[in-house]
Amino acid sequence: MHNISNSTAFDSLKSLRKTARMPVIFLGHGSPMNAIEDNEYRRSWQALGTEFGVKWPKPQLIVCVSAHWLTSGGWLTAMAQPKTIHDFGGFPQALFDQQYPAPGFPAAAQEISMGLQQPDSAQPVSLDLQEWGLDHGAWSVLKPMFPQADIPVIQLSMDYSRPPAEHYALGLQLKGLRDQGVLIVGSGNIVHNLRTMQMNAAPHQAYDWALEFDQTMADYLQQGNHAAVQDFQSLGAIARQSHPTHEHFLPLLYTAGAVDANEPPQFFNTSFQAASISMRSVLWG
Ligand code: ZN
Repeated sequence: MHNISNSTAFDSLKSLRKTARMPVIFLGHGSPMNAIEDNEYRRSWQALGTEFGVKWPKPQLIVCVSAHWLTSGGWLTAMAQPKTIHDFGGFPQALFDQQYPAPGFPAAAQEISMGLQQPDSAQPVSLDLQEWGLDHGAWSVLKPMFPQADIPVIQLSMDYSRPPAEHYALGLQLKGLRDQGVLIVGSGNIVHNLRTMQMNAAPHQAYDWALEFDQTMADYLQQGNHAAVQDFQSLGAIARQSHPTHEHFLPLLYTAGAVDANEPPQFFNTSFQAASISMRSVLWG
């Protein structure tokens, strides 16, 4: 059966225990080099990871929505041991040598897939047993956060053919997982334009359109105005400049969907890489 489309779908998963409500995190991942460079971003991810087991329970599972896994239809990784994917080119060997051997969680993937209703589709989210694994949108942030790689990770893909509101709708359905020990992580960038990068730009230098779009989204999130976040394309030119393609924006919609509109966001890493990549990150909970 597959007919449950709200967050109560996850009231009682056999594979996970009830816990205190987990936070939801959107991380601006920026350059893949942030995975191995000692910089302010990587240090912030390391610090965030140490809060689990202190401020919040240690997650039983991480569900990660990365800008880098685009599919037809929705997919969840369901293999026992997802491989580390080096989905980039032109970087030093040290980056290709990185591995993140976190396990998968096939039983949880199966249960979650049955509870996720794809908009306008009778099809449940499909289970991927061998194609994907952990792409750099996931492991570049999760490895600094949880270097022991002992927390299972499942990636949820994004069907780029769907409008933004349908990605938000899927995020809404993830909300119930927060009470089952699941940490939901979105990994993308609130501004992401590779064509206009200026590699020598300082962290607080950015294009006017980038600053405006980034601040507008921050304001909407602060106001709990998630409808406006989903409708980002109506901002016109600054939206097109900030997202020539918008796969790096979409993970934000999953994370915003997984929180209540009155849950206040906390922003961090509010700076830019290369003048056109916003590293702004958001923590709710
Ligand atoms: Zn990316």
